[in-house]
Amino acid sequence: MTKRKRRRMKRGYVVLLWLMLAVLIFGIARVIRTAKKNPQEPTVPVMELETDTAAATESATWPPPTEPLHPASRRTDLPGESTTGRTTEYETDDTTEEDDTTEETDETESTAPLAVLQSEDGSMTCGQTHIYVRIANTKKVSLRLSGGVKASEIEWSVDDTNVADVIGSGEVIGLQAGTCHLIASYMDETLSIPVTVRELYVEDGCTFVDGILVANKSYSLPREYDPGLLPVTKKAFDRLCEDAADAGLDIYSHSDYRSYDFQIKIYNSMVSGYSKEYADTVSARPGYSEHQTGYTIDCNTPDNSFADTKEGKWLERHCAEYGFIIRYPLGKEEITGYDYESWHIRYVGREAAEEIMSQGISLEEYLDIDSYYHDDEEDEDE
Ligand SMILES: [Zn+2]
Repeated sequence: MTKRKRRRMKRGYVVLLWLMLAVLIFGIARVIRTAKKNPQEPTVPVMELETDTAAATESATWPPPTEPLHPASRRTDLPGESTTGRTTEYETDDTTEEDDTTEETDETESTAPLAVLQSEDGSMTCGQTHIYVRIANTKKVSLRLSGGVKASEIEWSVDDTNVADVIGSGEVIGLQAGTCHLIASYMDETLSIPVTVRELYVEDGCTFVDGILVANKSYSLPREYDPGLLPVTKKAFDRLCEDAADAGLDIYSHSDYRSYDFQIKIYNSMVSGYSKEYADTVSARPGYSEHQTGYTIDCNTPDNSFADTKEGKWLERHCAEYGFIIRYPLGKEEITGYDYESWHIRYVGREAAEEIMSQGISLEEYLDIDSYYHDDEEDEDE
């Protein structure tokens, strides 16, 4: 073999080697590319996508939420009240985000009659017969519309702009304690909704809203507030018991006044016996118990089997006549912060009691206050 021939062969090998190397690089590149593509295809993300679609379909009956729906509006959605057929009867307003505290007030399971306000020709219906709003707070109502009434063409006003003002479609802001009307007008039709603007104030560490003393998870009482069972409560309850007895029923007090110090013992025993979470659903923290107000009585047996007794039914139907309300109603747990307690009554005076019980609302809704432990705020995700 000549030197030249050997050199040519060597060059041939080098070219071949380069070729093989090129094929190898190309192959690796392909493998990497397909490997990168594949992770996007597993079934899990597809399933997530399906859930999203399902959620979207579910909420399609609601106005497309520009803002996340308020938890309260979801709650109304769940009980499936649309089965009443009313929703098909009326065109719902699609252009604005409907506030649903309205429907919640009147459509949750409640023994109170379903009250609605209606314009003369019935084209505008409001499920809320009264708006309660505190100074500087806002409240919104939604209407059910029929007869071609368009939500965008309704004009909203109030008949006393010193008391409240309109800040949006069906939405008022409280300006000063008093009463006025929120008025929806469409051509000749009007719908007038009474508005009460409330004032919250603190006196000697006690919180009042329009003269009603408040004790719930948001508003506590000072340790020094120690009135015992107030005479006004006792007198009203005695009358209630007498009238119940005349009807052949036995209603009596299981427990009434509890001092701050006594509540410390109860709450702590619940926490040590069960847990803080459980204690908070059934017992108030010291200072937060309504039993400390002197306006509260637990009747007969502190158990919801009481609701099914003749006494329990009579109490719910008649307590307002004596100035009492069922303080923690069924279906209002999220608002009052407590489970339903058919036996726990609170004196608020006859006028307020009849307004509250006839509308099937809670004291929190009536006074436009919330009820949650503010120290827990950071622990809660909501
Ligand atoms: Zn109680």
